[in-house]
Amino acid sequence: MMAQYLEIKSQYADALLFYRMGDFYELFFDDAVAASEALDIALTKRGKHDGADIPMCGVPVHSAEGYLLTLIRKGFRVAVCEQMESPAEAKKRGSKSVVKRDVVRLVTPGTLTEETLLEARRHNYLAALAHVRDDWALAWTDISTGAFHVLPITLARVGPELACLAPAEILISENPHDGLHTIFEDLGIEPTELGKSSFDSTSALTRLNAQFGVASLDAFGQFSRPEVSAMGALVDYLDLTQKGKLPLLRPPQQEKLHSAMQIDAATRRNLEITHSLQGGRAGSLLSVVDRTVTAGGARLLERRLSTPSCDLDNIHRRQDGITWFREMPEIAQKVRDALKRVPDVDRALSRLGLDRGEPRDMTAIRSALEQSIAISALLAEAPPPEIVADAMHALTGHDELRGLLDDALVAEPPLLARDGGFIAAGYDTDLDEARKLRDEGRGVIAGLQKTYSEQTGVASLKIKHNNVLGYFIETTATHAEKMMAPPLNETFIHRQTTANQIRFTTVELSELERRIMNAGSEALEIEKRLYSSLSRAILDKQADMAALAQALAEFDVCSALADLATDLDWCRPTVDASRAFDVTSGRHPVVEKALRAQGGSSFVANDCQLTADDDGASIALLTGPNMAGKSTYLRQNALIALLAQTGSYVPAESAHVGLVSQIFSRVGASDDLARGRSTFMVEMVETAAILNQADDRALVILDEIGRGTATYDGLSIAWATLEHLQSVNKVRALFATHYHELTALASKLDGVRNATVAVREWEGDVIFLHEVHEGAADRSYGVQVAQLAGLPPAVITRARSVLDALEKGERENTSPKALIDDLPLFSAIANAPAPTKPGAESKIEAQIKELHPDEMTPMEALQALYHLKSLL
Ligand code: ADP
Repeated sequence: MMAQYLEIKSQYADALLFYRMGDFYELFFDDAVAASEALDIALTKRGKHDGADIPMCGVPVHSAEGYLLTLIRKGFRVAVCEQMESPAEAKKRGSKSVVKRDVVRLVTPGTLTEETLLEARRHNYLAALAHVRDDWALAWTDISTGAFHVLPITLARVGPELACLAPAEILISENPHDGLHTIFEDLGIEPTELGKSSFDSTSALTRLNAQFGVASLDAFGQFSRPEVSAMGALVDYLDLTQKGKLPLLRPPQQEKLHSAMQIDAATRRNLEITHSLQGGRAGSLLSVVDRTVTAGGARLLERRLSTPSCDLDNIHRRQDGITWFREMPEIAQKVRDALKRVPDVDRALSRLGLDRGEPRDMTAIRSALEQSIAISALLAEAPPPEIVADAMHALTGHDELRGLLDDALVAEPPLLARDGGFIAAGYDTDLDEARKLRDEGRGVIAGLQKTYSEQTGVASLKIKHNNVLGYFIETTATHAEKMMAPPLNETFIHRQTTANQIRFTTVELSELERRIMNAGSEALEIEKRLYSSLSRAILDKQADMAALAQALAEFDVCSALADLATDLDWCRPTVDASRAFDVTSGRHPVVEKALRAQGGSSFVANDCQLTADDDGASIALLTGPNMAGKSTYLRQNALIALLAQTGSYVPAESAHVGLVSQIFSRVGASDDLARGRSTFMVEMVETAAILNQADDRALVILDEIGRGTATYDGLSIAWATLEHLQSVNKVRALFATHYHELTALASKLDGVRNATVAVREWEGDVIFLHEVHEGAADRSYGVQVAQLAGLPPAVITRARSVLDALEKGERENTSPKALIDDLPLFSAIANAPAPTKPGAESKIEAQIKELHPDEMTPMEALQALYHLKSLL
């Protein structure tokens, strides 16, 4: 057995081998050590190899999925090795034969299909990156839904496109291109390297033609060599991991590089589109926007938010869909109620296609078909816009399949096909009979006994059972004579004579006996056969079902965004080919929601006017103290542009967005120690990317660029950056800075304006109004903000005097050095009598402690109160 194990293991060196032994998957050697640690299960030993103990651990087959999930999440790959015959079959080949085993599947993060292993509301992409000289292509698939796409790109776009796709696994060719290392490092992805042959574009063509059952890929479009190579690598890897059972993939969809708004990895992180900076979904834009009720809808919405469109027709079509649902809230509600009952059709289809399905996957299709009829009727109540009308075609015309599934399946099938019991009674007469025999074997025998006593006229005739004869007919010797004579002896065959009884059998009885014995397994066999034919019937309609799933997802997204817009009072933005950016009363959806949840102050809406001339820039230079709301304002406008081009309504009273081709968002001095680069370096690398790439349709959000270095360095860099954006890139931009010196640029550079977030000072405190106005901030209120943050009073007092001195010095042109020499030392101030140390007892506190309310008369209490007041 060990020899067999080692032989198989040698083919899967980079995976853990789950080696099936009876009811367990066992792991040996290093695999066992790694798995026992990752799964926190006991490590034991079994036998010896080369004189040393063999470490071993195991997981029960019935609960293996949970363990698989943990291992995959922890970055392992798992080869599942099954027994290909029963131990009895192995014995037949020779007493020492080992049961035949083979790997049936290699489980990797990008090739999951099980419901328990997948996140329902997210795609699980497997991507492949290929290049032929300087031409690159990225292909990706989600085998759990059948989606299959390919995109020709440039090396520079690899990072941003991967950041957008966020694949669970990415395939590249061995000895990768030098440029890829930093890209993968930046994204924190560990690519899977395949042999060069997997990427060979000639053999890829053959593989792809076979996969899609066509003689030439021309049917789906014209593909370049890198595209064919990337798609071929995907199919090759699926063949390897699924051991020849290829999943159902939709025909390759060719994407265009500039059809979507370009958003790079840093911008995605900053804007917290699908994940918050903490990493989770909570706190992201998606978490606030997502009101979808189906898993398919949730996946579509996530994809839309990740790839806002640059195609005006597309954007307007989607807006029309939302507007339509908004105008018919009652129908929309009914549609959403029906959608809630729609299961995950895509994933059910994919499992059936891979022969990993269960009866529930079939009932999922059935429920989707049922709901589709209801939804189609609801949608027909008002003339639908194009997007809805197009999708509606996919909903109907499936009566045959629906009828079949309706007739064939029980209402609530069991979890596993192998247990049987999912085919409805009345669907198949052979199955009904087998089940009847299985369940009512004795009843059928009793019925036969009655038939025989009538036929023979022997009322005392009995059918009995013993272990030697099985079922037999028994009668007394007197009656037996009749049965041994013609014509009855043709039916009744003599078996045995005992002292008082004669025993017979009949062909029918032996047949019945055989059938009763086999009825259980026969019922299962028939169900298995019916399962296969139902599965085939569904898969024959795979393309229709995939279109149906897509249509349902579209209705879900449209109606969910409509619900959101109505509930939160969002507006339909005007999106056109101009270079406008004009928002009235815009809000930040995530901050607004958080404020509402806290129940405190409400969100202050702000306008943003960034409309640019035909050939100029439009930049607002935003100053204001920390905590005033600058970052929030910057991000809310980027999110409004993004939402508008997703086709959604936006959080504002009105908005006019001229197509934005790229969004860049940068925050100065975000710590990135994990990646071993200095904060300032990261800031500069990211800024460089903008200055090199932004075109005149870019929207740029810069938050405190330059703050990661010394004041004058930072100021100079911010200054030069602003000038470049204005004169070379000619972008629409919001530029927040604490360098007040920059505000002077507004009067010098065309298209640059000053804006500030208002604060009010009241009795030495600062109050944040969160209102954005024209003009520059007069000062930064840093000391007041520090006070709010709880810096010790002594430090605040000291900071105030340093600030006063510096400001005075600036007015009088004194050098900071001279000022610092002039100021009394901190220790001198700190030791001065005044400020009470935090935590020290005040006079009032000391006196209150002296009071004993239980012993005081009301009059004394009143006097004490007056006394305390006088101490204030
Ligand atoms: P800054 O970038 O100026 O330091 P932030 O944008 O981080 O300030 O905002 C600080 C806090 O102020 C936010 O966490 C939010 O709670 C609140 N805030 C910001 N903008 C608004 C607004 N428009 N209305 C109400 N509260 C706001």
